[in-house]
Amino acid sequence: MAKKLRVLLIRPKYTSLVANLEPLGLEYLAGLAKELGIKCRIHDEFQYPWTFRFRRMCEIIDKGGYNFIGFNANANTVDYINKRAKQLKEKYPHLFIMVGGPEAELNYTEFCKKAVDLVYHDNGLSTLKNIWTQGLATEVFDRQTGICYKRNGRWVIKKKGAPVDCFINKPDRTAFYKGLKKNYIFMKGKYALSKASFSCPFRCSFCYCTKMNSGKYTERDIMEVVDEVEEIRHDKIWFVDDTFFFDADRVRLFCNEILRRGIKKTFMAYSRADFLAANPEILPLAYKAGFRDILVGLEAINDDQLTDYHKQTTRYENITAIKNLHDNNIVCDGLFVISHTATREDFRSLMRFVRENNLLWVVFGIFTPYRGTDAYDRYKDQVVNFRSWRLDGTHITLKPTHMTSFEFMMRYYWIHVLTYPKIMVRTFFGTGYDTKRKGWF
Ligand code: SF4
Repeated sequence: MAKKLRVLLIRPKYTSLVANLEPLGLEYLAGLAKELGIKCRIHDEFQYPWTFRFRRMCEIIDKGGYNFIGFNANANTVDYINKRAKQLKEKYPHLFIMVGGPEAELNYTEFCKKAVDLVYHDNGLSTLKNIWTQGLATEVFDRQTGICYKRNGRWVIKKKGAPVDCFINKPDRTAFYKGLKKNYIFMKGKYALSKASFSCPFRCSFCYCTKMNSGKYTERDIMEVVDEVEEIRHDKIWFVDDTFFFDADRVRLFCNEILRRGIKKTFMAYSRADFLAANPEILPLAYKAGFRDILVGLEAINDDQLTDYHKQTTRYENITAIKNLHDNNIVCDGLFVISHTATREDFRSLMRFVRENNLLWVVFGIFTPYRGTDAYDRYKDQVVNFRSWRLDGTHITLKPTHMTSFEFMMRYYWIHVLTYPKIMVRTFFGTGYDTKRKGWF
């Protein structure tokens, strides 16, 4: 059965000016297919123009004779995937269409549609391995965990399996190496991705990531992660773990092993402000091992807002974290979430905070109550224009309470005008990573 499958994995494109990244999730599926001897290709729409998307998809299917389609779903691609699934099913009635990815893991019922054959919401890929090896049959599905499928025309929803703490196979990074030319992170260059843990032990109200892996935080064996880093044929690696700097001993182990093996790569990772504020002694070692960027979910600049987000950090910790990073020549990429309750003064204070703390690299998102988060439960009755393509943190989905939506968006764009040119100028002059420098050059 496995030999007959021809799998096409599709990553739908969405608007993103700040990054075009490796399709790591699909590469794990491609790696599994490779291991099982199944012909598989990743069609990463980010590598192609916006035009003729459906035609291109059909041409690839025709040329490769694919009979199994796997869509990777994010919150902002739900409508697109359901639309494409319908079109594909009309054109190729015998095609088997599966939807997986973060949105399917959390909100699987969104894809329980006529044109879709299977929604994959399990933790890990063991169920997929079973399906690919045992066949696309109802009796096989009946024995699995974490999928939705149709039996006699009715959707059956199987419970998720246990949380996972490792991958069952390596990713096939062919798509990354092939797409390297177009890979970028705004002003930072090209990064390979790696994931060393699953989910997050914290519970910020707006956060999607903490709900993954059935809400259970687990870590991969750190030596296995070092092996992976060593194998990747690229010198810049971004750990997309929700918080890589969580266990100081584990971070130390990682850094020491990188140094011991003489691996010379540059790393970027997420950390929380409270960790960075409480563990400054780890940062010189992190720098030595190659960490140059730490993305910190600062989210807000006052304690009330941080409490409202259930962030469990304080303004003081945010400031200390930035200072500790800067003192160790590591860039703090400050991530902020702008609440729909922001006042004019809040926008001004945010800019003051950025200036006073010498934050150069910043990302501003608009508070979005994504389906599946605690924030959604709280705000689901108040959402406006909640169409999937708008769910990307750059659109208003809750009416601003202190100004019109138009003014809110103008202010949102304005804070980018105030911050992004400086990033560009400093990068141009080669001083973007000089954490002590204050000016434009
Ligand atoms: S925002 Fe960050 S710290 Fe908070 S739950 Fe999400 S991943 Fe964890």
